[in-house]
Amino acid sequence: MTAQVRLPDADATRAWGRELAALLRAGDLVVLTGDLGAGKTTLTQGLGQGLGVRGQVASPTFVIAREHPPLPRPDGTRGPALVHVDAYRLGSLDEVEALDLDSALDEAVTVVEWGAGWVEGLTDDRLELRLERPHGGVGDDVEDAAAGERVLTVHGVGERWAGVVLPGAPAASHAS
Ligand code: ADP
Ligand code: MG
Repeated sequence: MTAQVRLPDADATRAWGRELAALLRAGDLVVLTGDLGAGKTTLTQGLGQGLGVRGQVASPTFVIAREHPPLPRPDGTRGPALVHVDAYRLGSLDEVEALDLDSALDEAVTVVEWGAGWVEGLTDDRLELRLERPHGGVGDDVEDAAAGERVLTVHGVGERWAGVVLPGAPAASHAS
């Protein structure tokens, strides 16, 4: 299914990520696309909060992938770990192999920024999230460009997401 959600500010984007986290389980792959500054890492912060993982989700400067282990919940159980991949600086497909994402894809929730074009070969099931700035980000003021509304388009691919109602989507939908 495909859904579109308006996210007026960064907090709304994190809140949406927290809601999505409630649906995620080990083995899920989330692929984020959108320009630099679109809000991919911000959304991933919400996912990390919702999953209840250790460490601050951030834009990695030197590492391409970071694993955030799950913290124990009040009842003592733990959810899945979060593996956060920022492939912006990824140079070659050899480096993709070196990430050994296959094992992460079995045991963790894997979120990939800048993964379009190479993650498709990893699994048949994935959730594709695209973040866009409807008002551009064309201003000459950097603050203006960063501020404000984003439009999130969510598209589930494969059996895993068939019929799953995503946050912000109409509850009853005949769309596929
Ligand atoms: P990316 O990972 O896509 O490069 P970031 O999440 O690192 O983007 O940065 C997005 C920036 O835009 C942050 O400074 C964030 O506070 C700001 N921002 C403003 N409005 C929003 C919004 N609606 N959603 C997400 N981020 C927003
Ligand atoms: Mg980022």
